[in-house]
Amino acid sequence: MLETYDLGEERVDALDLKCMLVSAGMRYPERVYTAVEGKVRLESPFNPFACNCVILPGEVAVHLHQNDASPFALDLDANGDVCLLHNGEYVFPVSFPPPTDYYTQQTGDGKPYGGIAVLEGNGVLAFFYLWKCEYIKTNETCTFCFQVMADMAGFDLPSPTHEDVAEIIEYGIDHAGVKEIQLTAGTKFAGQRECAQYAELLRTIDRRVGLDRIPSEIYCYMTAPRDPQWIDQVFDAGADRVAHDLHVWNRDLHARFAPGHARNIGRDAQLRALEYIAEKFGPNKAFSAFVAGLEPLDSMIVGAEYLASRGIVPAFSVWMPTPGSTDGETKPPGLDYYRQARQEFARLYKQYNLNPPGIPAGSHVSLCRDIYRNMDELLALV
Ligand code: SF4
Repeated sequence: MLETYDLGEERVDALDLKCMLVSAGMRYPERVYTAVEGKVRLESPFNPFACNCVILPGEVAVHLHQNDASPFALDLDANGDVCLLHNGEYVFPVSFPPPTDYYTQQTGDGKPYGGIAVLEGNGVLAFFYLWKCEYIKTNETCTFCFQVMADMAGFDLPSPTHEDVAEIIEYGIDHAGVKEIQLTAGTKFAGQRECAQYAELLRTIDRRVGLDRIPSEIYCYMTAPRDPQWIDQVFDAGADRVAHDLHVWNRDLHARFAPGHARNIGRDAQLRALEYIAEKFGPNKAFSAFVAGLEPLDSMIVGAEYLASRGIVPAFSVWMPTPGSTDGETKPPGLDYYRQARQEFARLYKQYNLNPPGIPAGSHVSLCRDIYRNMDELLALV
């Protein structure tokens, strides 16, 4: 049951708040960290290699996107418990995942685990940049990509070896409650190399950790290869699912926000690869994420319906604007957009019997599992 809360004149539920909080961020004063240090999984606001989240009522995990100008803030209530405020008004208490030493760990050669993979919610381990994005060389990176921005800003994100990745997964399962693994990397111009690299990585994980020890799923976000059959090796090596993200359905906006994808791959090649997976491996094996807010809602829903009707799961991430990515023409949408979007995605999941990836209180910015878990309730709101 989705509880509702008053936010000024507006009544909102936890899914509304997830969209608002990812988009607007929240203030995160150090006193909040000091109050719960060591008791929950919350890293210092000054740790650049940690990814924090808050868990809203109803098991909805939200990325803690720090923004000192946000109307939302984390703070302490009269009992010293952490709560969410909006314009200084109390909204509700929030919780955090259990404590872990994950962010103090380093690989054998000194790479911090947090510079390679972050923990999301109650059990997702997300590798965010396994290798560099080659679109940097041609200045064709996506405008919404935080990984590339961090790389180009000199954060010097480490490129892990396959053994590093396996070591981190093993630690995550044994010591940090990890249930689900997301593998994401930068795009390579040669899709065949990317497929082969993922396949080799999965074999290393299986040899060192055992893929059967992953309680939920392991999946790969990949560039769609020119020949879809190259993806077979990734499934053969043990991936539960593969994603080729479209990000944006509208062709012109796609070229504007994801110029490398638009010029080097193109939507038709991405669709060909997604449809190949659905036909060969069955429904729910391919998925593709849209960044909600980058294009008009109607356009995104046309794309989502195209995928869903072919057994491909459309996923939906809330746009977290990067500095400089918004202007007069492009700015994050309002609550109505997100409410209609979640309604439409719930309809698609139900109508086409789709089951998106994710665990409860898992992903920080994707809403697909939150929508799926509340699907019947959302559909009853129509
Ligand atoms: S292709 Fe992937 S890694 Fe490269 S800029 Fe776009 S989203 Fe980031």
